[in-house]
Amino acid sequence: MPDLEKVVHEIAEEMRAYEDRGRVASYIPELARVDPKNFGIAVIAADGTLAAGGDCDRPFSIQSISKVFTLTLALGKAGDRLWTRVGREPSGNPFNSIIQLELENGVPRNPFINAGAIAVTDVILSGHAPRSELGEILRFVREAAGDDTIYIDEHVAQSEKRTGYRNIALANFLKSFGMLENPVENVVGTYFHHCAIAMTCRQLAVAGRYLAHSGRNPGTGYNIVSAERARRINALMLTCGHYDGSGEFAFRVGLPGKSGVGGGILAVAPGQASIAVWSPGLDEAGNSKLGRIALEKLAQRMKWSIFGE
Ligand code: GLN
Repeated sequence: MPDLEKVVHEIAEEMRAYEDRGRVASYIPELARVDPKNFGIAVIAADGTLAAGGDCDRPFSIQSISKVFTLTLALGKAGDRLWTRVGREPSGNPFNSIIQLELENGVPRNPFINAGAIAVTDVILSGHAPRSELGEILRFVREAAGDDTIYIDEHVAQSEKRTGYRNIALANFLKSFGMLENPVENVVGTYFHHCAIAMTCRQLAVAGRYLAHSGRNPGTGYNIVSAERARRINALMLTCGHYDGSGEFAFRVGLPGKSGVGGGILAVAPGQASIAVWSPGLDEAGNSKLGRIALEKLAQRMKWSIFGE
């Protein structure tokens, strides 16, 4: 097997030289302030070896990557009933699109587009006050990462709350179809806050280990979800994790991955490694530009694509 440490350092070095780094998300004002020069990478292999480089210890806003964790919680709570609320097909549309939602009667295409993630948040919120549910989400992430210092960046949450007209519209639309159990305000408030969780690449790579190892965190030995559930979450990450850029991501990287507009990507090489990359500049589909390039190089050099060498 190629030397992971060496490959990760090479990639961190190569990424430093890139001129065209994409554009930092500006529709959430607080995210627009992040320096596009940041690049971080952390990879944790099956045996626990961790290779990291660049700005791997600087916390960033995980944004939509949090949808992987809320989906895990929602499946734990509702099981297969979740699929009456949200579909499992790629949308072929931008992450914040509203068009399909009307045509498909308020059942969002998948849990990773915003409408779908808002429906998932509604499911986990039922029976809880928003504050206690947020506590549950944060506890889950901290436990998966083995790190109690992980926090919610309140500035980012408030910044999105002030400007999140489209997500509020999506939630109202869902409500109009009778597809939200809780008040719109509580659902979007919880959604904005879980998107505002801040993590470093190192923390995120560790948190994703259960997806790489059949639902089990090999660090603690705990089963977080069943092997079947982990496999299914990975399938959704592969087909829907990059919105209308999911096909391109599968074509180039060949790994299940979930991106966020903060510029992070969590990727899973099943049986091999959990990987987090971060570079705030985005491509046209709202996915990290350099993050994708770095993952393409990593998968190629480590021969980790799920589709073969
Ligand atoms: N909080 C962001 C939003 O709802 C998440 C989007 C993303 O990361 N793609 O717009």
